[in-house]
Amino acid sequence: MGLCSPKFDVAVIGAGPSGLTAAYSLAKKGFKVVVLERGRTPGSKNLYGGRVYSSALEEIYGGFRSEAPIERWVKKERFSIALGDKSITIEYSSNSSSSFTAYLSKLTNWMAQKAEEAGATILTDIRVDDIWVEDNFVKGIKAGGDKLQADVVIDAEGINRILLERMGVVPKLDPNHVAIGLKQVIKLDEERINERFGLEPDEGLAWFIMGEVTKGIPGGGFLYTNSTTVSLGLVLFLWGMKKPPNQHVFEILEDFRLSPLMKKFIGDGVCIEYGAHLTPEISLDLSPKKLYGNGFLVVGDAAGLLLNLGYTVRGVDLAAYSGYLAAKAFEKAHSEGKFNAENLAHYQNLLEESFIMTELNKHTSIAKLLKNESMFKIYPEILVNLASKLYEIKWRSPTILEALKEATKGKTLFTENGPDITDLVKAP
Ligand SMILES: Cc1cc2nc3c(=O)[nH]c(=O)nc-3n(C[C@H](O)[C@H](O)[C@H](O)COP(=O)(O)OP(=O)(O)OC[C@H]3O[C@@H](n4cnc5c(N)ncnc54)[C@H](O)[C@@H]3O)c2cc1C
Repeated sequence: MGLCSPKFDVAVIGAGPSGLTAAYSLAKKGFKVVVLERGRTPGSKNLYGGRVYSSALEEIYGGFRSEAPIERWVKKERFSIALGDKSITIEYSSNSSSSFTAYLSKLTNWMAQKAEEAGATILTDIRVDDIWVEDNFVKGIKAGGDKLQADVVIDAEGINRILLERMGVVPKLDPNHVAIGLKQVIKLDEERINERFGLEPDEGLAWFIMGEVTKGIPGGGFLYTNSTTVSLGLVLFLWGMKKPPNQHVFEILEDFRLSPLMKKFIGDGVCIEYGAHLTPEISLDLSPKKLYGNGFLVVGDAAGLLLNLGYTVRGVDLAAYSGYLAAKAFEKAHSEGKFNAENLAHYQNLLEESFIMTELNKHTSIAKLLKNESMFKIYPEILVNLASKLYEIKWRSPTILEALKEATKGKTLFTENGPDITDLVKAP
């Protein structure tokens, strides 16, 4: 690398789903594109839960279903609330599927392969130190004392956004807007997975769990079945950690694995991998005001494009699609002969018109709901107590109203200017 190195049309920072999809889409159109990744291999620094929604990837990558490293197609969804040895579970199953389980490292490796086959250059083990700006125009990137020139830089650095912060495009990450995700990959053989989770060989399960598993910290647990492993993890909202937890967060995860609800499924499995990563919580609050500038575009998590619906997380498909749209915007600016903010603003328009912004704008109220501490403590307690009153019958069975009164006893639930939940069950 260095000033004498050839100029690229586009330099992409980060080989995650967003950066690699941008690179693939640009290289396919014949543009000269380089991806710079600080990890040893594409995917080596990535961590996620375990399931990806496929529609966007199928549109972008021809032959996706047959070529991509898919573990299982998700045909069962479970949602549980667990409190001690008691739990409530609902399950949804269907023969059709719109999402699959996969290892993110394998998926990104596959995307890297597709980008290289299309003609992109991927340089690993290189940490970009700065985005190179001159006269209010991005000229390229700086890494290890060298500079690399490009018409446009696509920032796909993920949630940490150190480069965007340094550039003054975003403020320091606010703990109120991010959560920490922890994950173990647990080895179990295929037969045991199929038998224990009631799955056919290629069927997958996605399971979301609320309640005591997070030890009072707002957040939830997840489990995804791969072919011969299970991904188990927790997402803990940092705003809810008013003081440091009594336990190390990995101990909380290990207790989750050995909890009464999980033990019979995975208690005898062997943890072969673990990790932690930040994830956007209220993603739109994290978005830079503009996702484009002179010679500059921002995609994926760095742009705050993640949808956390509480019962499921969509980051990978949104990241990949934003990379695809960034490539389209570059192509248009190229045809206009100028890579200034005015021309690259087309990216923001494409995002607004796409499912990404439609979805993110549609679901803003979920963020408010996920900020309500009662969602994680009082409501789960009420529901499990209600079930225990209704189902654990000794001599007399309570009426539903009696059971509800018992379950909500002493639980004064004030929402801002809202009703006390006990009002709802007061007999007329
Ligand atoms: C615990 C957890 C669970 C999740 N579960 C799911 C899920 O089940 N399904 C789903 O769809 N999404 C999930 N997500 C979200 C998903 O992982 C992200 O939305 C997605 O990975 C974002 O892709 P990206 O390319 O924008 O960023 P990333 O995947 O974070 O990639 C960024 C890349 O940039 C590189 N990089 C950063 N800085 C530099 C630098 N200075 N120089 C060079 N390289 C750099 C990094 O090494 C990394 O490879 C989850 C996230 C977490 C943390």
